[in-house]
Amino acid sequence: MSTEVKLEDIVSLAKRRGFIYQGSDVYGGLSGTWDYGPLGVALKRNIMNLWWQTFVENRDDMYGVDAAILMNQKVWQASGHTKTFTDPMVECGNCSNKFRADKIDISKCPSCGKENTFRPPVDFNLMFNTQIGASWGSIETPDGQHWAGELTAVENKTGEEKAKVPITEGDSYNGTMMFEKTGRVYLRPETAQGIFTNYKNVLDSFYPDLPFGIAQQGKAFRNEISPRDFVFRSREFEQMEIEYFVHKDNWQEEFKKWEEDIEKFLEALGLPENSYEAVDVPAEDRAHYSEKTLDYEFKFPHGKDELLGLAYRTDFDLKNIDENSGKSMEYRVKGTNETFIPHVIEPSFGVERALMAVLTSAYRTDELNGEQRIYLALPEHLAPVKYAVSPLLKNKPELVEKAREVYQMLKKKYGAVMWDDNGNIGKRYRRQDEIGTPHCVVIDFETLENNTVTVRDRDTTEQKRIVLEEI
Ligand SMILES: [Zn+2]
Repeated sequence: MSTEVKLEDIVSLAKRRGFIYQGSDVYGGLSGTWDYGPLGVALKRNIMNLWWQTFVENRDDMYGVDAAILMNQKVWQASGHTKTFTDPMVECGNCSNKFRADKIDISKCPSCGKENTFRPPVDFNLMFNTQIGASWGSIETPDGQHWAGELTAVENKTGEEKAKVPITEGDSYNGTMMFEKTGRVYLRPETAQGIFTNYKNVLDSFYPDLPFGIAQQGKAFRNEISPRDFVFRSREFEQMEIEYFVHKDNWQEEFKKWEEDIEKFLEALGLPENSYEAVDVPAEDRAHYSEKTLDYEFKFPHGKDELLGLAYRTDFDLKNIDENSGKSMEYRVKGTNETFIPHVIEPSFGVERALMAVLTSAYRTDELNGEQRIYLALPEHLAPVKYAVSPLLKNKPELVEKAREVYQMLKKKYGAVMWDDNGNIGKRYRRQDEIGTPHCVVIDFETLENNTVTVRDRDTTEQKRIVLEEI
């Protein structure tokens, strides 16, 4: 078993075997985006389903939601994202490349190598914004015709709510541009706000007792200045978040329980205990409203980095909504007149980071018949393919027919079963090892006589003869 996994190894395996490809690859790619191939989407869904089962279905204090990605812009004004969800950006005066000021040595440009070329850092907002609806802009031509189009550039120039901008030379339309800023929406930079904005809905529909939680999985978008480290920091990603509502006197006790639940989940992902560490974030690095935050840092191939976070957020979010929406976020204790705004504990997971941690933990090499073998020791419940079925020889119709029968039988039973008759048996095993298939079933002439098959174990490479019905 190898101890050090390189990022290139994971990237190369992911591409070669159909887990993850560069986004828009055929057109030269789009930075910070990734596409999931057949095995990648299977692995990702298995991780997400395990999370949903663990934290929603198997508990009676959790409610799932799936909120819209596009939300009223007031959400992001109230949460502070429009003002403070920024990274410091610097631009090189020589080559015009842009960097995160806190990630580089700004005395020398990492791109062109020139010294002291950077302009002072500016706050760069990471939210993608777009327009909703058809009423956001038009051009009125002198003969009264209207034309609707992309006016974002003009809007940015004036920054006013409504403006008439004369068309300048070089524009292909002659007339006056009109636009309104009211249709602005953001692609959500986190799923958490979709939970907070539904807290009242869930409360009114289900009357849950405290403590209870609301969970959501879904896409989020951040216009990262420098996407990096494979899927670790990308511009479009998927989150799995929970807001757990508690009485303020109980937050410490509930926080402890979450630490235990998170550890159990990480174990189910197959992450060894010594591969990660819960780091207590010091007060000066925490969000101002948080009284405790744990960053779970995993030993990724690119270094130790954040896998997930567990934060006590006080009543900051609900109080904000209470004040800005004019709707009460108070919780009433049943049978009493006691009301208060609940406090919140937030476990926040990134799907891609979990997937990278799973691949890193599962990646193994050993030696087999004098050759290096690569295999993924994935936990069986996460493996994209549970069984691969092959006829020993693909030019023997009687073997192929029996193998097809076995394949159908196992597919009915396990779902994720692959037919594999490419190349010789040795090659098939190597391929299945690389995608983490725990069991390979081979149908040979003995199968036709006594209904037994060979089942090979991925990790030990041991082969056993098993009666078909016992698989
Ligand atoms: Zn430069």
